[in-house]
Amino acid sequence: MQFNVAQLLKEPTGATRRYELNEATANLDEELKFLGPLVGNVQLLRTNSGVLVTGVLSTVVQATCNRCLEPIAVPVRFEVEESFRPLTEVFTGRYLRPDEFEGSEADLEDAALLINEQHILDLSEVVRQLVWTALPMYPGCNWAGSGQCPNLARRLAEIGELEDVELYSDADVRHDEAAIDPRWAALLKFRSDEDSALS
Ligand SMILES: [Zn+2]
Repeated sequence: MQFNVAQLLKEPTGATRRYELNEATANLDEELKFLGPLVGNVQLLRTNSGVLVTGVLSTVVQATCNRCLEPIAVPVRFEVEESFRPLTEVFTGRYLRPDEFEGSEADLEDAALLINEQHILDLSEVVRQLVWTALPMYPGCNWAGSGQCPNLARRLAEIGELEDVELYSDADVRHDEAAIDPRWAALLKFRSDEDSALS
């Protein structure tokens, strides 16, 4: 995900480059398991002080269903909009002073947004952070739509068939509040959650 922007930096403000990406993602983040390449389009725009990268990218990441704990494929799509600043001046090789950069202070301090001495703009770190941000907080395999996790529902149904296990419903719970030890309350709640997954 590296772009040589030496030529672009020599061009006037407003000059652009467009790229269609189809990038391997194997080494992007050791904690993320990608199930496909990173695809999409990005535009590099020469600005007064550097290069503005915009675009829309998507990929597929493996996650774990929050309910059945099965691995699931989560499609991830996100927008990129980041200003990169060159470390050196492209014609002379002179290191640019931070005060020559026209951008937010946060951009200035972010090492991920530096174009290095070889005029390589590396989008990897920005993309890595955006993938994490785009992942759902509670991934679930609700293929049939909103609501139940189909894996969990099917598994509970199979257990019921194979072992002839009776699955208790809310109706079987004794609603004798005083008799329920508070330590079991969480478990009872879990059981009724499972029952609702079957319905
Ligand atoms: Zn699931």
